[in-house]
Amino acid sequence: MRVNIDEIKEAGLDRHWDVAREVLDSMLQGDRSGWRARGPAHVDLRFDKVDRRVLVKGSARAELSAECSRCLVPVESDVPVEFTLTMVPADEYQDEGGEAEDKSHHPVGGSFGPEDAEEDVYTGKVIDLDPVLREQVLLALPGYPVCQEGCRGLCSVCGANLNERECGCDRKVPDPRWAGLAKVKLQ
Ligand SMILES: [Zn+2]
Ligand SMILES: [Zn+2]
Repeated sequence: MRVNIDEIKEAGLDRHWDVAREVLDSMLQGDRSGWRARGPAHVDLRFDKVDRRVLVKGSARAELSAECSRCLVPVESDVPVEFTLTMVPADEYQDEGGEAEDKSHHPVGGSFGPEDAEEDVYTGKVIDLDPVLREQVLLALPGYPVCQEGCRGLCSVCGANLNERECGCDRKVPDPRWAGLAKVKLQ
């Protein structure tokens, strides 16, 4: 989605952006944890402009699915994506005496937004939100998917799902949680 800064009037601008499942999925490609989009995402955007700096607030919910990284059962997660960014015109970055490229992801002083708001650069009059959303979705991902906190994974010998049953294989590195039970079985 692109917004021309001239569209942002004194009262600010609210925009809604529907991101198709395939588009959201392509944003997840760069991540190795295996999350995929389950459906489209609806993004609410708010723009406020002071001179040529634009405060962007975004809020969305990404409906994701993946395989548990330990036992491979399907996992679903609805991930909130919330961000606040100050978009600064590229020439203002240069006026501040630095290299625009290098500073694009580092905060600089003089922001009108919340103190910790991240800053990003836009060129010309158009703010392109695709790379912004992509970055924010990746930041919001819950890391490697697991079906449950204490997932025991698959037996490395026979492949049994150890959440469902203990197969009795000798897996060499004994899991202390099963040591007691193994003794009982051997008697
Ligand atoms: Zn699992
Ligand atoms: Zn086994």
